[in-house]
Amino acid sequence: MAEDCIFCKIARKEVPADILFEDDDLVAFNDIQPQAPTHVLVVPKKHIPTVNDLTEEHAALVGALALRAQALAAERGVDGAGYRLVMNCNAEGGQTVFHIHLHLLGGRQLRRMG
Ligand code: AMP
Ligand code: ZN
Repeated sequence: MAEDCIFCKIARKEVPADILFEDDDLVAFNDIQPQAPTHVLVVPKKHIPTVNDLTEEHAALVGALALRAQALAAERGVDGAGYRLVMNCNAEGGQTVFHIHLHLLGGRQLRRMG
């Protein structure tokens, strides 16, 4: 847990968010500045700053993030048409919140990445 981290605060319910799913390990909520009709963030409750900080001990947790995103995509009905899962890392990757999170983007044709 990190005191000043916005996603830790959301996980602790100190900051409101539009929470779609929660269990002991993760929370999923709508992005505050959606880039697509479906833009959900799937976030571990444990504070892990970047993808660079992941180790073997986090393997099940990362798997749980991906499977939750898959389930949310199906709930939103974007699974058939398609969607994108993204984790940004550090400045050149476009990371702005330094608590790892998986973006689920869908509901429109997404452009090529780059
Ligand atoms: P990234 O740039 O990959 O670090 O993604 C951070 C994402 O968090 C951005 O898409 C922001 O719009 C989103 N975000 C930041 N603060 C909040 C918040 N309080 N509630 C929901 N989403 C947020
Ligand atoms: Zn955090």
